[in-house]
Amino acid sequence: MLSSMHCYLPALLLLMSMPLQAQWYQTRAGIMGTNIQVEVWAESPQQGQQALNLVINEMHRIDALMSPYKADSELSKINQLAGQQTVVISSEMLELLQTSQHMSQRTQGAFDITFASIGFLYDYRQQQKPEQQQIKPLLAAIDYRHVQLDIEAKTVFFANPNVKIDLGGIAKGHAVDNAIGLLQQAGIKHALVTAGGDTRLLGDKNGKPWMVGIRDPRNPEREAVVLPLQNIALSTSGDYERYFEQDGQRYHHILSPKSGESPHEVQSVSIIGEQSTLTDGLSTAVFVLGVKAGIDLLNRIPGYEGIIMDNQRKLHYTEALQPNQ
Ligand code: ADP
Ligand code: MG
Repeated sequence: MLSSMHCYLPALLLLMSMPLQAQWYQTRAGIMGTNIQVEVWAESPQQGQQALNLVINEMHRIDALMSPYKADSELSKINQLAGQQTVVISSEMLELLQTSQHMSQRTQGAFDITFASIGFLYDYRQQQKPEQQQIKPLLAAIDYRHVQLDIEAKTVFFANPNVKIDLGGIAKGHAVDNAIGLLQQAGIKHALVTAGGDTRLLGDKNGKPWMVGIRDPRNPEREAVVLPLQNIALSTSGDYERYFEQDGQRYHHILSPKSGESPHEVQSVSIIGEQSTLTDGLSTAVFVLGVKAGIDLLNRIPGYEGIIMDNQRKLHYTEALQPNQ
C-alpha cells in the first residue's frame, strides 16, 4: 500500500501544483505616458498571462502609432506632411480622425484635435507656456474643419499649414476599447482595463458590480465619488493630470479651442457610457464646455451620463445620475 502510494506521489504533486480554480490575474505598466492597469478573470495562469499580454501589446501598438512624442509615429508623420500635401493613412487612423470629427461636431467644437496647433507650445514638465503674441496668430489654425479626410482614398490634408493634431483626448479610450475587444475574443468574461483616466469593465467582479472611484481632484488619496459599475466605460478628465502653477494660475493639459488656454470652470468631469473612445472624448469636451453647456449636451446623448465637479467643488449630475431620486 505504502509503496503503491509512493508511485503515485509525483503525479499527485503535479496535480496539486496545477490550478484547480479560475482566479484573477493582474498587471500594471507605464505606456502612452500614463498608468495602465489590467485585471482579468481567467481559467489558468496561461490564459491569464496571455490575456494580460494581449492588452499590454495593444497599448504599445497604439502608442507607436499615435504618440506625438515619437518622431516615427503615424501621427507625427501626418503632422510633418499634411499641411503641405495629402497623406495616405491607415484605416485605424482614418476611423479615429472621423470619430474625432463627429465628436467636434457634436460638442460645438469643444473637442478639437487641432488644439495641438497651440498645444504643442506648452510643456507642462518644463513649466513652459506660450505668450499671447504666440497664441494669437495660431488661433485660426485651431478648427477641426481644417482636417480634410478623403474616406475613399484614405487620406488626410490640413487646409491650414499651421495645423497640428494630437489624439491625447481620445487615443487612450480607443486603446481601452480595443483591449476589451481582444479580451472578449480570447474568451475572457470579466476584466478591468484602465489607461490613465479611462477605464472599461467587462462583466462584474465576483458576482457584484466593480466599485470604481473617481478621485478627488485636489487630493489623490481621496475619492470624491464611488460608483458601482459593470459592463461599461468610465472616463475622467481632470485639471490635475498634467499641470503647473504660475502667478496663481493653473496651466493644465486641456485647452479651450477658442482661446488656446486652459478652462477653469470645472476641476473634473467623469463620463459613463458604453464605449471608452466616446467617454474619453466626451470627458475632454465637457471639461471645456463647463457645467451648464456640458450637462445640457450629455442630457441629449442617450446612454452617456456625467458627473462634474466645479471649481467650488460642487458636484453636478446628468438627469439619470441624480442622487436620491
Ligand atoms: P487624460 O486621461 O490624459 O487626462 P483627457 O481625456 O483628460 O486625458 O484628455 C486630455 C488630453 O486631451 C490632453 O493631454 C490633450 O492631449 C488632449 N486635449 C486637450 N484639449 C483638447 C481639446 N479641446 N480637444 C481635444 N483634445 C484635447
Ligand atoms: Mg478624454
